[in-house]
Amino acid sequence: MTTVETSIFESLESEVRSYCRSWPTVFETGSGAWIQDESGREYLDFFAGAGVLNYGHNNPVMKKALIQYITDDGITHGLDMSTVAKREFLESFKRNILDPRALDYKVQFPGPTGTNAVESALKLARKVTGRESIISFTNAFHGMTLGSLSVTGNSMKRAGAGIPLVHTTPMPFDNYFGGVSEDFQWFERVLDDGGSGLNQPAAVIVETVQGEGGVNVARPEWLRALADLCKRHDMLLIVDDVQMGCGRTGPFFSFEVAGITPDIVTLSKSIGGYGLPLALTLFKPELDLWGPGEHNGTFRGNNPAFVTATTALDHYWSDDRLQNETLAKGERINEVLSNLADAFDGVSTRGRGMVRGLAFDEPQRAVTVCGLAFDEGLLAETSGPSDEVVKLLPPLTITDAELDHGLSILAEATARTLA
Ligand code: PMP
Repeated sequence: MTTVETSIFESLESEVRSYCRSWPTVFETGSGAWIQDESGREYLDFFAGAGVLNYGHNNPVMKKALIQYITDDGITHGLDMSTVAKREFLESFKRNILDPRALDYKVQFPGPTGTNAVESALKLARKVTGRESIISFTNAFHGMTLGSLSVTGNSMKRAGAGIPLVHTTPMPFDNYFGGVSEDFQWFERVLDDGGSGLNQPAAVIVETVQGEGGVNVARPEWLRALADLCKRHDMLLIVDDVQMGCGRTGPFFSFEVAGITPDIVTLSKSIGGYGLPLALTLFKPELDLWGPGEHNGTFRGNNPAFVTATTALDHYWSDDRLQNETLAKGERINEVLSNLADAFDGVSTRGRGMVRGLAFDEPQRAVTVCGLAFDEGLLAETSGPSDEVVKLLPPLTITDAELDHGLSILAEATARTLA
């Protein structure tokens, strides 16, 4: 792999950046499932901005709407003023997403990014219940600000907080110990035991598929058992759908597969539709105990993002087409990954819909595979506590031919790594 020459990126930008190390080039343009660097080299993008680009780079339908909005001098800043762009978004979200699913949620715009949605979800859960403690899961990722970091199960990232992260209790995620069980009796026992020292938690926060944690999939029955546990113990259930929402696993919300209705849901990443920052916290109406101004911030509800978000919802979510295509393409990916897992020792596959992982018993191999794939024109990143999983997040709108092309690069890179 080549290294990017010393430049202003090295001399001025902090060492904290990471993706430039995985992909040592300077990107310039993007179209659909393709991203191009400044030398004109094209790469198939199975990274999709870490899940921001479910509809691809510069999606033409959204681009047209955005250009029109800017040409018409539409409002470009955010805050929570009432605007036409926001009204159209709320109407579209209700019409295309909430009503067809019979979901009754209030909507909050907590700030520009996923971590803002998680922060507001945790604050609201604590405010509503009057309790402090939150249950989270092993290998969870919920963001990098202090509240969301406190429920993130990654010790390297937690260490960056510099202060103790308190009032959270980690629980094993589905299949964490290898065997599968939806039996939470042991946990109920601890909750019921007044002497256990575990205070009654306010809420449980969970990803239905852990993206950063290694594409770990929670089974629908496990999610249902978790939702029941929350009900029995009067804890709120927060589903963090920042990465797995907006159709990544097939249905718009990733929890639909389990038939559960969380009390609070977080959305971000692809909700803006065009890579523009937007985040939503959804909660059951009876939980709306916020006082005016109790959670605000300058870049809430970005109006250009409302325009692209509305266009995405109207174009892709007024029927089941995208969902069905995503499930079919997910199967196509799974077939190729399963063949690789059958062909090579120490390789396994996991995922749901169009988030898929190829896991290696020896972590360095996943890093090598991604490096070789980059050299052949494919972007894919690693995930998991030891970077042992190649995570595939292609745009949902990718064509079958592009998907096959990217998968053949991945298969070849895997074969070369394990040869
Ligand atoms: N929750 C989940 C499930 C995520 O995957 C992420 C980002 N990877 C976040 C929260 C944080 O979102 P952001 O980076 O936009 O703050």
